[in-house]
Amino acid sequence: MSTNRLNTDVLIVGAGPTGLALAIKLARAGVNHVIVEKLTTGQNTSRAAVIHAHTLEVLSSLGVAEQLVNEGLRLATFSIRDRDRILARLRFDRLPTEFACLLMLPQDRTERILTDALINANGAVRWGCTVEALNETSTGVEAQVTSSEGAQTIHARYVVGADGMHSLVRETAGIGFSGTSYEESFVLADVEMGWDHERDEVMLFFSPAGLVVVAPLPDGRFRIVATLDDAPPQPAVADIQRLLDARGPARRRARVYRVRWSSRFRLHHRVADHYRRGRLFLVGDAAHVHSPAGGQGMNTGLVDACVLGRLLAEVIHGRSEDAHLDQYEAMRRPAAQQVLQLAGRLTIMATMRSALKRFVRNIALRTMNRLPSARRRLEMALSGLSRRAAADLNGH
Ligand SMILES: Cc1cc2nc3c(=O)[nH]c(=O)nc-3n(C[C@H](O)[C@H](O)[C@H](O)COP(=O)(O)OP(=O)(O)OC[C@H]3O[C@@H](n4cnc5c(N)ncnc54)[C@H](O)[C@@H]3O)c2cc1C
Repeated sequence: MSTNRLNTDVLIVGAGPTGLALAIKLARAGVNHVIVEKLTTGQNTSRAAVIHAHTLEVLSSLGVAEQLVNEGLRLATFSIRDRDRILARLRFDRLPTEFACLLMLPQDRTERILTDALINANGAVRWGCTVEALNETSTGVEAQVTSSEGAQTIHARYVVGADGMHSLVRETAGIGFSGTSYEESFVLADVEMGWDHERDEVMLFFSPAGLVVVAPLPDGRFRIVATLDDAPPQPAVADIQRLLDARGPARRRARVYRVRWSSRFRLHHRVADHYRRGRLFLVGDAAHVHSPAGGQGMNTGLVDACVLGRLLAEVIHGRSEDAHLDQYEAMRRPAAQQVLQLAGRLTIMATMRSALKRFVRNIALRTMNRLPSARRRLEMALSGLSRRAAADLNGH
């Protein structure tokens, strides 16, 4: 194996959506950087399927919002139902933003758009490169990287961990990841099915057996999400049909024809104790993980990336001192805590089992539905627009 050295200003570890967004931001700002990814082609699976209005506002600074909107499916409403009864209906088509919608797009397509945008900005991911170890020196951080071409040492002024939930960067920095793991698993599936209901709406059904979400996707497919105690690793047509029959609409039932992709994952609810230690930073799932209720995970990471990218560009171009980078944690950690609270509340509400609690929950939701100001608060929280200040550097 040969060993060689490379110097850069910023090393980004991981090319999921968060790492890609950060790399585009740095490339467009003319910041010298390297982005490495241990997989050879990315994960290429559907996973996070919703992009919220505030994320699109932020991503417009990367020149990708228009293409995401063109490829995605714009949905107007989100309803919460108890089988056939509507408990609350939120409107995303009247939000105070140019991106007034819930945009549905599978994560692999979002990642492809981001990868293309990085190439257009003259950047490139080094696929198949794994960061094995990081050591801080007096002038920066040395990363030991391996790939099929051998070992390499990358010396960077700053290293950003966009390396997901099991982050090596977080571990190396000795930053705690406080929180808990839930008992239940979530089942996810992208299916083709007969659906005799609105197609511009995400529907969240509560039922005594648990929740199920039905969300239209581009190309006529649907995303199904459900909680389950003992979910199979790859749910099949019969599993999804059973979930929809038991929890979805009792009238005009769905008929599942084909599962295009399915998965399950366990819920964690954690936020990193710090977002920065010295020259090491955390973004995306490396910094926060939570329930997919409300579809906030990838969205929060994308905003983290744009905020940190802007701060790093200011420091590296010499317009601000290193201490300026402390704003990143000050702005983004409280935003993640708000998101964790929101996703946690939605999950608890959706997974209530006691009949009395469900009865009280349904009354509370129907009351909220009659109060425009309460509805608007939830619309603003879900769309991320209530957290605009946590991404606005001009306000800091
Ligand atoms: C099955 C599943 C379903 C999901 N569904 C939803 C959903 O419905 N809604 C939602 O909002 N979110 C969902 N999520 C979460 C969402 O996918 C994540 O929030 C999002 O991918 C986070 O992006 P990221 O870039 O921060 O991290 P990741 O996408 O995890 O990317 C991290 C990358 O870093 C790379 N890496 C790690 N260590 C190293 C190393 N040492 N060297 C080099 N590279 C490294 C990894 O290979 C990986 O590609 C789901 C996740 C899963 C697993």
